Amino acid sequence: MKLFGTSGIRGLYPDFVSAELFTKIGLSLGTQAEGVVCVGRDFRTSSKQLQSALVSGFLSTGAEVLDAGACPTPVLAYATKKFKASAGAIITASHNPPEFNGVKLWQSDGSAYSPEMEKEIENLIESGKVKRVGWEDIQNSRPIEALERYMEGITAAFSLEGGLKTVSDCGNGSATLTAPEILSRVSNNVSIFDKPDGMFPNRLSEPSEKNLSELKKKVITSKADVGFAFDGDGDRVAVIDNQGDFVKQDTLLAILAKSEIGKNATIAVPVDTSMAIDEIGAKVIRTKVGDVYVSEALKKEKGTFGGEASGCYIFPEVHLCPDGLLAAMKILETIEISGKSMSELVAEIPSYPILRGVVEGDREKSFKKLSENAKKLGGELSETDGIRIQLEDAWILVRKSGTEEKVRITVEAHSEARARQLMGSIMN
Ligand code: MG
Repeated sequence: MKLFGTSGIRGLYPDFVSAELFTKIGLSLGTQAEGVVCVGRDFRTSSKQLQSALVSGFLSTGAEVLDAGACPTPVLAYATKKFKASAGAIITASHNPPEFNGVKLWQSDGSAYSPEMEKEIENLIESGKVKRVGWEDIQNSRPIEALERYMEGITAAFSLEGGLKTVSDCGNGSATLTAPEILSRVSNNVSIFDKPDGMFPNRLSEPSEKNLSELKKKVITSKADVGFAFDGDGDRVAVIDNQGDFVKQDTLLAILAKSEIGKNATIAVPVDTSMAIDEIGAKVIRTKVGDVYVSEALKKEKGTFGGEASGCYIFPEVHLCPDGLLAAMKILETIEISGKSMSELVAEIPSYPILRGVVEGDREKSFKKLSENAKKLGGELSETDGIRIQLEDAWILVRKSGTEEKVRITVEAHSEARARQLMGSIMN
């Protein structure tokens, strides 16, 4: 039974994501983790009910439940570690539309569940071989001050001068609970869409450029130094610079990585990240695509920073969960320390053309042919995730889709003409 996707379990309520399923997840996670489980939720209309179902499952196994209440995903991950729970669960569908919901699971060290651990949960749900205790062993669910602990922790991690002007756009998601407050402590902050609302009435929850026109306007009219937009559960961030322009996530990733230079930086990024990251002078580890693999690599290699160009940024010195607000604080710190404007920081990062192609049909057959074509180009071969060829002035990635009969090809080169030529020779 395949329940988990690339970011936990997610789907439509109540067709796929239901109270019945969440009770089973609670029973299974309670059985696997044992002891103490930390739980939280976003503001979606179905989240409270799903939390009740999940908690009911936990309690049936004899687990004690720490209730973080409504909170952003990074707060739940942080609390799981700080309150010494053996596992954590956040009920959220991140940036998906309001009719969706889901759950993402966390390890005791605050990092995301690995695909192997998710598989164990799926097996427990399928077999039904879960632990159940008698009435005399049922434990309690008790509230914890997760938000307060997180806000103390994140504030203590920075010593900012203050004085910069910021705009925050929480898109009515759960970052409303943390970002306006924290950013007001360290900057002159104006916030928009800062009332939690599970219907996301003001903008789509994904912080992609097309959804951020109000934030752009506000940055311009308030003459702000920088604008931050968070996704529905606050683990991702997008940035608008002081000129009102959207900062490409690959550029942001390189700016954040660059700010780690001088700390003997080891940076972890997925195989599809722009080569701009290779030019900042840090040791770069390339992982499989997905923030969970970035987090695993950071743990294993004791990395200083990692992320992927979807707006997920991880700073292991604070915790191993992608954290939009933490990345926003790092950006503020970078602007303060460098004395440069956000648009100047952007201009320092090279921007190369990236082409993306898709071949539909039998994915095994297409993958074989396309990767043979790619290998003929020579260069350095990596098989971390699909086939990646590193050339002097370009790279090529050929990957099978995990869910569809498709193969995706990505090419990045120093010039558009070169990228087209390479794409042509692979598709040929
Ligand atoms: Mg998210």
